[in-house]
Amino acid sequence: MESDNELKGEGNSYDYGARMLDPRIGRWFAPDPLERDYPSLSTYGYVANSPIIFTDPDGQKIRLKFKSPEARDAYIQLVESTLNCSYIVTLKTVEDDLGYSSEIVLTKIDGIEANLSEKQKAFLKDYKGAIDAEATVRQEIVRNDKGTTVGDFRTNKLDIEDVKKFDEAGEFGASSAGSLIHETIEQLEKCQAGFCPGEGLAEKYDANGKVDLTNYKGPHSAGIKAEDRANGNTRTEGQKFDTFTEKDGSTTKQLVVPTANGSINVIKKNTPKPITPKK
Ligand SMILES: [Zn+2]
Repeated sequence: MESDNELKGEGNSYDYGARMLDPRIGRWFAPDPLERDYPSLSTYGYVANSPIIFTDPDGQKIRLKFKSPEARDAYIQLVESTLNCSYIVTLKTVEDDLGYSSEIVLTKIDGIEANLSEKQKAFLKDYKGAIDAEATVRQEIVRNDKGTTVGDFRTNKLDIEDVKKFDEAGEFGASSAGSLIHETIEQLEKCQAGFCPGEGLAEKYDANGKVDLTNYKGPHSAGIKAEDRANGNTRTEGQKFDTFTEKDGSTTKQLVVPTANGSINVIKKNTPKPITPKK
């Protein structure tokens, strides 16, 4: 195997610095072929600046495949920024019968987690729960995929650019973190129910030709619960739009409209809690 110096040249800062820590943190930092191909956006910078880190050695059961290096970078960036950069995300290459070959490794940077907000802590708890679960979350991370609106239960695809739209549309309603954890927990529950990627509700029709949502409802509602925790509000689904009851008593109507280029428009309308005059 090549050494880092051979690979990246003398004096390479962050990556090389991080690799020096290898003996302490063990096998999780073994070089990942994908990382080597796409060394952009290196998360090792945080490690170099704050070398007191440790890794949870338990199961790593979020397995992803990436449509492109951009999809990979966008996913990692979203998880890290959601966790306020108190964790770094690295990928471990695994052999997966179903082709999902990148396993998520969360590495904590000591002393920063305390600064997380309640919503960020909620996301972390659910995300870690998925990583430590017995069943495996499998997701293919795509960008502006025309067949995928945010997440697709059946194909296990997650459109990371769609997910980012929720924060871009402003506060209230669904956040990008909420959207991401919804799809993650939904796929975890789907796997626990014994369904593989490509399987699931959409192919199941009842005698009247109606889609049987039985297999979808449980995972979807578990996804909404996790989403509510990360959003810090409560979502009620409607025919045309969703309504969110916010912590401050205001109400947000939210509409998601797929666009022709595979993206989505997210429209949020927040109505403050009516002021009841004091008698
Ligand atoms: Zn869902």
